[in-house]
Amino acid sequence: MNEELFQLIWLHGLFDMDQLSTTSGLPLSIVNRGYHNHDAGPDFLNARILIDGTLWFGQVELHINAIQWQQHQHHTDKAYNSCILHVVLDDGFECLRQDGTPVPCLSLKNRVRAGLTEQYDYLKFSSAQIPCNKALPYISQVYIRQAIDQALVDRLERKSQWVYDWLQSSNGDWHTVFLAALARSFGFGTNGEAFEQLALNLPMLEICKSENNLHKITAILFGVAGFLDEAPKDVMHAKLRQEWTFQQQRLNLHSLDKSLFKFMRMRPGNFPSIRLAQLAALLQNFQQLLHGLMNVNSIPSMLNLMDAELPDYWQSHYQLGIEGKQHQARLSLNARQTLLINALVPFLFVYGKHTGDENYCVKALDILQKLPPEDNRIIRDWHDLGVEATSALDSQALLELKKNKCSARLCSNCPIGIAVLTSQL
Ligand code: SF4
Repeated sequence: MNEELFQLIWLHGLFDMDQLSTTSGLPLSIVNRGYHNHDAGPDFLNARILIDGTLWFGQVELHINAIQWQQHQHHTDKAYNSCILHVVLDDGFECLRQDGTPVPCLSLKNRVRAGLTEQYDYLKFSSAQIPCNKALPYISQVYIRQAIDQALVDRLERKSQWVYDWLQSSNGDWHTVFLAALARSFGFGTNGEAFEQLALNLPMLEICKSENNLHKITAILFGVAGFLDEAPKDVMHAKLRQEWTFQQQRLNLHSLDKSLFKFMRMRPGNFPSIRLAQLAALLQNFQQLLHGLMNVNSIPSMLNLMDAELPDYWQSHYQLGIEGKQHQARLSLNARQTLLINALVPFLFVYGKHTGDENYCVKALDILQKLPPEDNRIIRDWHDLGVEATSALDSQALLELKKNKCSARLCSNCPIGIAVLTSQL
């Protein structure tokens, strides 16, 4: 057994608590096991333990083997003088505090449920994508809901972090923060990193000031993305390149390496070039867009605001200078929903928290609750295991759970994992 499992056993009380006694034979009962200390010092703080009729209030230290008390030098450390109990698996060594007094010891040997170590190892070392897969059908919905809710909070906090970072680097300018959130989200996964780089290099204030100048905004987006470095292949390409040359000098802009953007194995409708054109179309009415998204509450109205019209050129081009068959160039419904989830929700959440106006946080959650769940391989895997996402709120949480807990084997920090360990499955 390792230290982590032993700590979990104490934390969640996964042992037989009937007729406990200290290793010296005094009757003992646990009033409160204390709270887990992740900093320096004893493992559990503020515990309450009744030993031979006296109630003790203080810290608890855990070791697999009692002798580790000495090996870790706790007998010379004043910080451990407040330990009221030493919990071990194997005893056989009397432990003294720095002040010379003995620490009462409780051994959990033969009190830990058989099979617990095997269950823990299975969750920790299984090669399955979702290690608790076999146990999931037997786990109460209460724990599954808890895991989903916890993962949702984790996701919102993780996604909020970069919004905060942007807020700081833009000196509190919410317009540029939302513009960055939007630009970054246009990578739609495959080109996420490239569009993040794009967002970092765009002249945000200039774009905010360029309302209704689609040509200029398009030239800046394509230019910064490195798409206007080549010789022009048609009139549109040439005009954009001319505008970019002017803006690049005027604003001292740098272009990225175009190879950052991936075209391979993508459907033409997802090409980064068409995404840049769609982003430009949205940004030409940026102030109106942001104002509208902040103030309307119905999902259809938000989706309408995101439904920007593109110039005819893009109905017959997926890339600059390369003519193809006619197609619909506007953002699909699915893409607009994804942008609401990835750009608007974290923005509103941080805006609400930062300004103290909780209504925006509620609105962020409401958007997730009202949007349909995403449909991707991970959500389908959860579905196959009987865990259904009924809204984007659920699917966002399940994506987070899989990415940051299941894949990292952090089951001991997950309500479902604890339910698996505490049950007799
Ligand atoms: S983290 Fe939770 S949901 Fe994921 S495999 Fe572990 S116990 Fe299951």
